[in-house]
Amino acid sequence: MHRRLSLLSACLCLLFVPLAVYAQKNPIALTGTLVMPQEVIPQGTVLIQNGRILASGADVKLPAGTKVVRTEGIIAPGLIDLHNHLTWNIFPRWKPVQEFGSRYDWQQKPAYSVLMAVPHNALVKQGLECEMERYAEVKAISEGETSVTGSLPSPCVKGLARTLDYDPELQGSFGKIIYNVFPFQMSEQELADVTAALSAQPRGALLIHVAEGAPNDASAAREFMQLRGRGLLRPGVSLIHGVALKPANFAEMAKQGVGFIWSPRSNIELYGDTANVAAARAAGVRMALAPDWSPTGSDGLLGELNYASVWNQGQSPAPFTERDLVLMATSNAAELAGLSGQIGSLAPDHAADLLVVRKEGQDAYWTLTHSTPQDLQLVLIGGDPLYGDPVLLQQVTGNQGERLKVCGTSKAVVVDGKPFAETEKTLDHALHQFGRHLAPLSECGN
Ligand SMILES: [Zn+2]
Repeated sequence: MHRRLSLLSACLCLLFVPLAVYAQKNPIALTGTLVMPQEVIPQGTVLIQNGRILASGADVKLPAGTKVVRTEGIIAPGLIDLHNHLTWNIFPRWKPVQEFGSRYDWQQKPAYSVLMAVPHNALVKQGLECEMERYAEVKAISEGETSVTGSLPSPCVKGLARTLDYDPELQGSFGKIIYNVFPFQMSEQELADVTAALSAQPRGALLIHVAEGAPNDASAAREFMQLRGRGLLRPGVSLIHGVALKPANFAEMAKQGVGFIWSPRSNIELYGDTANVAAARAAGVRMALAPDWSPTGSDGLLGELNYASVWNQGQSPAPFTERDLVLMATSNAAELAGLSGQIGSLAPDHAADLLVVRKEGQDAYWTLTHSTPQDLQLVLIGGDPLYGDPVLLQQVTGNQGERLKVCGTSKAVVVDGKPFAETEKTLDHALHQFGRHLAPLSECGN
């Protein structure tokens, strides 16, 4: 969230100072296959300085002193997650023994209370919420994410993912992003704040859970009418889940400029089916893809891209191309958050939030929708190299970071302050009081 080291943390952790200074002063050029907004450039270069992309393309002139790193991989914009609940991602997968009608059903079940809600809320009460957030941000980054939503109400983790709920760098000149899970508990004051954000210049965004349930669940479907009644079908609003939405609802959303955030894995695991995205696409609704949370969704966006791609192949006709899916995790998501021109693209003047994956096959989009956390070679956020293959990370930063094992593959993360392993140990120990253990960063396809 804060891309630069604070004075205090710089004093505490001198090891990381050269990295931050390097990222600010010296240009870095990464070469590889570039996934640009309109095309794929097989042998391209991205030039980065002061946290931003200075130039990108097939023929980039490099200033004197530029450090060139040949990745041999596919370089794409970092993935933007508009639907998550980060502190819950400490839990291993939750496999309910039944499908539910709507979110109100499972939230009342004793199994959810015992396995999830009681331990989660107890850890928060014990003051561990910043550890939970720190763990979840590293987990998100290990899935290629550079921007996340659904963070804690106040920032407490420095130097990891860009938390869009309150990113200080982007929000100064852009609208306020409001993330709401229970829209119908919104007070009149909160509604007034939302309306003000959506009416402001620049316009804010409201990302809101609506119609979360099985396709034929009447109460979930009714939420759309309640939303309309509150005057919230308007530009800047994006609906999350929407499994119970009908084609006519999607047509109305398209007409009113309302976006949609699709979370297929969590939908299918909880409700047995997912939203009618073919109807949404036919209506022309702008769509993003996001994982929800790791207990019933994917560990992160790389996993959700894989899931969405396989789901898509099973449809006749398939609503999406592989390119569509990649755009839904990058530039479309930036647009729904009101951050087009800032993140979600390798074009010049965007924040240097990007990822590198191992090259496989001929099609860059296909490779991205089939990459796993093992294939992730590098992640830069605001130009800071934070995660990746230890050898490549060392080439870019001059240090190897803290070693991690992800599905048997060596990775490394650069964290501010105490080691990440201490966060994992603290959370695992705390969860033992409830007979649970900390989830691995990746379930490795299980
Ligand atoms: Zn959710």
